[in-house]
Amino acid sequence: MSTLTYKCPSCGAPLEFDGYSQEMACDNCGNQFPTETVKQVDAIEKQTASSPDNSEWTVDAKPYSPEEAARTQAFSCSSCGAELITDETTVATNCAFCGSPSIIPMQFGEETRPTRIIPYLISKEKATGMFHDYFKGKKLVPNLFMKGNTIDEIRKLYVPYWLFDAQANADVTYNASQVSTFTSGKYRVTKTRHFLVRRAGTLDFRDLPVDASSKLDNSITESIEPFAMDASIAFSPETLSGSMANRADVDAEESKRRADNRIHKSTESAFRNTVAGYHAVIPRSVKIQVPDGRCSAVLFPVWLITTKKEDKTYTFAINGQTGELTCNIPYSLPKFLKWLFGLTGAFTLGGYLVATLLVSLGVL
Ligand SMILES: [Zn+2]
Ligand SMILES: [Zn+2]
Repeated sequence: MSTLTYKCPSCGAPLEFDGYSQEMACDNCGNQFPTETVKQVDAIEKQTASSPDNSEWTVDAKPYSPEEAARTQAFSCSSCGAELITDETTVATNCAFCGSPSIIPMQFGEETRPTRIIPYLISKEKATGMFHDYFKGKKLVPNLFMKGNTIDEIRKLYVPYWLFDAQANADVTYNASQVSTFTSGKYRVTKTRHFLVRRAGTLDFRDLPVDASSKLDNSITESIEPFAMDASIAFSPETLSGSMANRADVDAEESKRRADNRIHKSTESAFRNTVAGYHAVIPRSVKIQVPDGRCSAVLFPVWLITTKKEDKTYTFAINGQTGELTCNIPYSLPKFLKWLFGLTGAFTLGGYLVATLLVSLGVL
């Protein structure tokens, strides 16, 4: 004989039907629940426990056709190790990544063929101007960067990305509570009401980019995003004419993990934001499925300047479509302190904090 036992939503102990109140009662914590509520809670728990999280991705990427491969050249840079691709007409003299002249032709093998490419909208003159303007207002850039003249050469580099389209189906439950206090006679009563909150729905992700180049730091590529795919055109080797593309060396599998991660985090926070009006909210079960994700290979336009100073490579990058710019060039701490004490002698504590804030405001 099998018995169906419902568990107390509050403490997990077995519930018993109480004939007097016509509700399910818990001996352990003393709570009572309407039978319908207990059944609903049970159904949610069973459903979220039975189907594990999973993601199904289809990779929309084909290799180059032999005809296209014949119209394409590949190079590797013996200075920085970058692997580059361009069309047959482009004369490649310098590495588009580091600027070194030591690039040598390499065999063009089984490469992932991009499906779309976004052309450059920002001209070289504009990008160069933006680069110089960047340093103009920045009094605290280390001297090293102020007198360096190797950095005024700016190069076109198409950066490979994987682009993800997906719908996330989420079913999330939360333990939530509301606390109120009131006075009853000579007692001060604290009343805590417990809620089981359920949110279920879908979230659409379109053109979620994950960069497929291990040469460019993810923090650089992520800070010049987004790129707008509506300006993209179909790829052919000729679309690379006059510029070079970095070879995609992060495979779809690894990028899928990063995309999955971003989708899970965004979905969790979007759903959590809909649960308002409680004093405490703790996720109880999170179930996110991505049943029909698609990923395709694309090329995005970037203006790039890299410079080596004291054995460290610094990168300055501009989004070739929108003009968004970023760099990992640090501010100079000695110059900062001089500037700070020049303003007032009072700042000592929190200097770094102020610096960080100023950096984030774009002052430094
Ligand atoms: Zn209980
Ligand atoms: Zn190089």
